[in-house]
Amino acid sequence: MCTACDGQGVVIELRQIALGMVQQLQRRCTDCGGQGYCATKKKERKILEVLVEKGMKHNQKITFRGMADEKPNMEAGDVNFIIQEKEHDLFKRKGADLLITKTLSLNEALCGFEWIVKHLDGREIAIKSKPGEVIKPEQSSSAPFVKIVPNEGMPSHGNPFVKGNLYVLFRVEFPSDGELNAKAIKELKKVLPNPAMDVSYDEEEVEVCHLEQADVKNFGKGGAASNDNNYDSDDDEGPGQVQCQQS
Ligand SMILES: [Zn+2]
Repeated sequence: MCTACDGQGVVIELRQIALGMVQQLQRRCTDCGGQGYCATKKKERKILEVLVEKGMKHNQKITFRGMADEKPNMEAGDVNFIIQEKEHDLFKRKGADLLITKTLSLNEALCGFEWIVKHLDGREIAIKSKPGEVIKPEQSSSAPFVKIVPNEGMPSHGNPFVKGNLYVLFRVEFPSDGELNAKAIKELKKVLPNPAMDVSYDEEEVEVCHLEQADVKNFGKGGAASNDNNYDSDDDEGPGQVQCQQS
């Protein structure tokens, strides 16, 4: 605190202007520049150790109370660190759960597989199918085929012994056209369930068709371009409007 002004920032001066008459003048304290205090500034180097606890999340804040710049008569502010999570090549994270995508050959999908995953904490885990377990290309028409390894996700923040699950999203790579030779096809037909029945027909009377590449988006666009003037309810602009077209 400034001793010259008692911390007021101003000093009162009395000046005698005539006998018995005193003028009271208030002026800014020159010792402290009107601040009421005198302070010497110093720069300080401080090392803040940021401890990222297990299971912390993206954008989570770590606060160092009162570690910002100090100013007289003011409470020092905080220094905040905001955690920014980096993308990982293998693992995707949502909450405490992790997800990896695994591509299997059709052989692995049908006959079983085993592979080593290097986990985020450096451990190696072997993920192995159960005997007879079949991995499918997809669960339903739109949902991918997913299984979990329980408790191999992230530790929960504040409760690191409770872990999320590790989701494995499977993709199955089928052999390409021509990759299976006649011998392999014969063997597969023997071992895989529900082989195609032999149908008998007269090739003179029944036309044999083969399949070409296609895109389902083109379904409905086949045939010759049509000029038919069909009524389309989507183009209806409301009642009372009659459209005439000259033909
Ligand atoms: Zn002063």
